[in-house]
Parts: sequence; C-alpha cells; structure tokens
Amino acid sequence: MAAHPRVAIVGAGPAGLYAADALTFDQNNGIRVDVIERLPTPFGLLRNGVAPDHLKIKSLEKLMQRIIERPAVRFFGNVTLGEQIAREELLGLYDAIIYAYGAPTDRRLGIAGEELRGCVSASDIVAWYNGHPECLLNVDTFSASKVAIIGVGNVALDVARILLVSRNRLWNTDIAARALQHLMTYRPTDVYIIGRRSVAQAKFTPKELRELGGLEDVDIIVDAAELAICDSDAQQMADRSELTLVLETLQSWAERPQKNAPHRIHFRFLLEPDRIEGSSQVEAIRLRRMKNDGSGSILATSQYVTLNVGAVIRSIGYRGKPVHGVPFDSKSGAVPNEGGRVITQRDAAAREFVTGWARRGANGVIGSNRGDATEVAESILASLKPAAVFRHHTDLEDVLLARGVEFVTGQRWAQIDSIERALGKERARPRVKLENIGELMKASRMSSGTPSKAERSVGQEIPE
Ligand code: NAP
Repeated sequence: MAAHPRVAIVGAGPAGLYAADALTFDQNNGIRVDVIERLPTPFGLLRNGVAPDHLKIKSLEKLMQRIIERPAVRFFGNVTLGEQIAREELLGLYDAIIYAYGAPTDRRLGIAGEELRGCVSASDIVAWYNGHPECLLNVDTFSASKVAIIGVGNVALDVARILLVSRNRLWNTDIAARALQHLMTYRPTDVYIIGRRSVAQAKFTPKELRELGGLEDVDIIVDAAELAICDSDAQQMADRSELTLVLETLQSWAERPQKNAPHRIHFRFLLEPDRIEGSSQVEAIRLRRMKNDGSGSILATSQYVTLNVGAVIRSIGYRGKPVHGVPFDSKSGAVPNEGGRVITQRDAAAREFVTGWARRGANGVIGSNRGDATEVAESILASLKPAAVFRHHTDLEDVLLARGVEFVTGQRWAQIDSIERALGKERARPRVKLENIGELMKASRMSSGTPSKAERSVGQEIPE
C-alpha cells in the first residue's frame, strides 16, 4: 500500500508545533505529522510555563490549536517516549523523527540549607501557578513575607511579578485555581531578585524588566552602587543594546523617589548565594559579596550580606535530561546535533532531528523556536524525495491500541478544552484548568452534549 511520508514529533510545545506548522504549511505536499506528547494536553510551555498574565504571548495557543487541527496533523497525548513507545519503534514507523521535548529539569544551587522548607525551585512555582498536572509544590510552605529569588533571568521576573501583581489582574487569566485562591490572601512584602554577577551579565530582557515598574503598590529598590560596571562590561554593553536598556531601566529606578508602598522589589547584584539558614524552615540567606575582576568575570570578597527571608526560590535556569535511547550531551544538557540533525552513532540514515530547548539548551523566547523549526523542516522536506513511494505497514494508532494505551486525540483534547472553558465561565474566568492527570483523562473521555452525573463531577474539587 502506498502511503504518505510520515514524521513523528515528540513534544507538543511551541518548538514541536512550529515544526508541525513548517512541515504541513503546504497542505498539498502529502506529509503527515503525528505529534506525541507525554501530557494529555498540548502546548507545552505555552500552557504550563508562560506566566498567565502574559496574555499576548498566551494568545499564541490559538495559532497552535489551528496547527493541530490540520487534516495532516494528529495529536497523541498521554504517550511517553520510552514508556508506551520506544525510539527504535518510532524509527520503524516514521520516515523522520523530530525531538522537541524541551529541557524540563531545574538546577540546584549546591549550597547548605537547600533542603530546608521554603526553599523551592522557580520551576515548581511556575508549575503551581500554571496548574501543571505534575506540580509537587505544597503551597502551604509558601507564605513568607520576605522572599529571595536567586538568578536574574526572565523566569525570576515572572515569579516576582506573579507574587506581587494586583490580584484583579490575575482573575482574568487562566492562572490555576489553587494558586489564585492562595494568592488572594498572600502577597509578600519584600521580594529580593539577586544576581551573582554584575548588571551587565543579567539575562533579563528590557521589556519584561520594565513591566515590574508598573506594578501597583510596589516600590522598586535599587542600590546605585551595585550597578557599577567595569570597562569590559561597558564594552559588552556597547555590543548588546538590550543590556544598555536593562541598565538604564535599573538606573532610573535607583533615582526615582519611593512611594512608601506596602510591597517592595529589591534588585541586588554581585551577591553569590553562600548558604541558606534555618532550623527546619528557611530563615535567612547568606550571600557572599563578589566584585568585578575587570575582565568580565567575578571574584569572591571576604564580605557577606545576610537577608532575613522566609523563602528562597532558585531561578537559575532549566536543563535537559536524557530521554530513553536518544543521544544526550551531559555537558550542554541538550541532544547533540548539527543544524538540528541529531548526531548519533547508529545508522538511522540521518532521520532524527531536534528543535527547541532540547536542541539548544534552555534559552531564547517562544519565538526563537520558529527559526529552528523552519530549518529542521526544510532539512526533512529536502530529504524526503517527492517521487519516492512510501510504504508503511503499521500505524502508531494501531500499535497503541493493541497495547491498550489510552491516548488523547485532538478531538479528546478539544473535549478537555471545552470543559475547562465551561468551568471558567461558571466562575467568570476565561478558563479553569484541570490540575491532575486523572481529571484531564476523565474530561477527555466525556462525550459532547449534556454531561452525565459522573461527568459533572470533573473539576468539583477545584476551589471557587
Ligand atoms: P536564564 O535566563 O538562563 O537565567 C538564569 C539566571 O540564573 C542567570 O542570571 C544565572 O546567572 C543565574 N544562575 C545560574 N546558576 C546560578 C548559581 N549557581 N547561583 C546564582 N545564580 C545562578 O534562565 P531562566 O530565567 O530560567 O529563563 C530560561 C529561558 O526562558 C530564557 O531564555 C528566558 O529568556 C526565557 N523566558 C522568557 C520569558 C519571556 O520572554 N517573557 C519568560 C520566562 C522565560 P549567570 O549568568 O551568572 O550564570
């Protein structure tokens, strides 16, 4: 039986779906794409990572939805590579595979006290406010009035903003119901955002930084002395205008009069975490004062600063992890590749590709995935000779059904989507997310039309 060339994409986040888009944009090219996703829901970091109040970027979900609805694209949620289906099997079923499974692991500081209650990773907080079905954070541990965030990247800004933004602005978002309920009564007084190097090495982007300046009832406190930069920093800034904008924003905050607001964000630089103090709960963090060495690196001094805080959030980046049988470079934390083509020992006739964070490490914004995806799709389209006759004997759907794997199709995802929207409507919110795998799977099984009594129980444990 002649068939169409088929491509499997592992990961239904923006990286994977931009690749699906690039492969099927020309709907007459005959390519069929199956998108395999570990969770029952698509959209990866768009659903589970992007801060809920970033409505503009969240609206990309509409575009992503249109991609998975294309006739040439199928969604297989609740299917994990290495569990329900092996890499070798995918190589047998598809003409090419694209790995787009991101970089899910958070990093650790490796200092004393990290195990104390109240020391959490930003990825846990992000999972909590986004209602990630695998979120492990116990929100009760999170009620400190003074919070230190370690790391000066965009995730640190997201977390600080969600902790301090006016609660009215959260209502009209898809923030998880449990997080919203907790945040209605909890708003810290002081959030410290702490960089170990100079401001010239900060990873913030200027637009995201400036957003903090507009928060209601929040003063921003910056010590001008900690913004000092050395000559090599100045040189680096001359080459990257974004860094100059970051510095100018912080300088303007250092100069502007305080409003005596009830909440404060403190930016601190050249302070490296030394140890977290407390008996069972975080009580303070001791930071070592660093100084510029004149060449862009930092040197430790013998001075320390102690901040009395009840929580420490490490926001120090994400890292990839090895996925069953797929090559992995433990140094870079990514899949080794050349221009998106996986470098592999086995003879897979160069049919494996990688895109997104799994390809380049955890850096870049959502839009950065588009260029990567286009490059990979072009390589695949060039390698799938249009005149060739493709023969496939087995379909992924049949393999999964024969194994008794319950997978979520695009249609079943649409059912989850409509139930979440309906739950949102009841509470005058755009959506209320189902926050565990069992509830998501139950919702996906519901037929459209009037829900039965059992079906109506979905979402009942979600707080008002
Ligand atoms: P990031 O941008 O890599 O920032 C990590 C920060 O942690 C850096 O300041 C880094 O400092 C610091 N750090 C690392 N190890 C440390 C240690 N042991 N002690 C103290 N500090 C340490 O990571 P991210 O904030 O998680 O963001 C990941 C990616 O997602 C980025 O590309 C980001 O732009 C993107 N993102 C974008 C948005 C948006 O566009 N709105 C929102 C969220 C995330 P050093 O430089 O000194 O290592």
